[in-house]
Amino acid sequence: MSATVIDGKAVAAEVRERVAAEVRDLGESSGEVPGLATVLVGDDPASAVYVRNKRRATEEVGMRSIHHGLDGSTSQGELLDLLAGLNADDAVDGILVQLPLPAGIDQDAVIAAIDPAKDVDGLTAPSAGLLAQGRPGLVPCTPQGVMELLSHAGVDPAGAEAVVVGRSILVGRPLASLLLNADATVTVCHSRTRDLAAVCRRADILVAAVGRPALVRADWVKPGAAVIDVGMNRTDEGLVGDVDFAAVSEVAGAITPVPGGVGPMTIAMLLSNTVSAARKRRA
Ligand code: NAP
Repeated sequence: MSATVIDGKAVAAEVRERVAAEVRDLGESSGEVPGLATVLVGDDPASAVYVRNKRRATEEVGMRSIHHGLDGSTSQGELLDLLAGLNADDAVDGILVQLPLPAGIDQDAVIAAIDPAKDVDGLTAPSAGLLAQGRPGLVPCTPQGVMELLSHAGVDPAGAEAVVVGRSILVGRPLASLLLNADATVTVCHSRTRDLAAVCRRADILVAAVGRPALVRADWVKPGAAVIDVGMNRTDEGLVGDVDFAAVSEVAGAITPVPGGVGPMTIAMLLSNTVSAARKRRA
């Protein structure tokens, strides 16, 4: 079997077009332009690239990008003061604090300081709670992108066995909730899971969100399964995922490549969350 390759770039482009149309509609009905505030602390080069891409994408769909680049020596108190200002600023619909933060700043305290109504990364406890209860709210971007890719590939989670490898608050946990809310039977695996290969082989939908190059091998995959690779690992051979793409493509029914699979969806869903937050705040 040779799997269908799910084109994340094409799906992300569709999402961006949809967001751009929503931004235009909002402008026509209210005269207002949604604003996304980005906060970058320190000078980590990878984080700087991520934020630059997010800002560019924000402007491309017609929204306003409001950026705060802070010195690496910024104190937690100063950062919390900035967030209080952004929470109170009516021109700001979404707040994105680029992670990781420099050592010495309590990431949990910073996330907790974001107004849940502007939590476009979906990382606050209120957002996570709503998702866990299956209620509407802002959902973390990468897992939301995975669901969008499954939908575009025609994979219906209802009744399916879904296995998520990884339990981070950024990817694994929210994705497990999304799959459960879509009526899949969900198993979440992690570093202490016994016989990971056997658990993965049960999956109709297998998602790897681990950070280990080519961890998922062909004999871990049920023939015909949909395999979604969230992993982004920088190696001497370039950027690779958590799935052995060449071998698994021979077994799976559908598969995402790295790059060009889940990656492009993350920014697209951030834009989608921002316009949703803007509409909700104005409703
Ligand atoms: P993370 O916070 O480091 O979590 C990794 C998870 O994998 C943990 O739950 C860990 O288990 C589990 N794990 C580690 N080694 C394992 C093993 N050998 N077998 C089974 N489980 C194992 O990472 P993350 O933030 O979720 O990110 C995961 C990957 O996705 C990374 O490569 C990251 O770069 C990528 N990512 C991509 C995007 C995108 O836009 N494409 C966005 C976010 C993340 P324990 O909990 O037991 O430690």
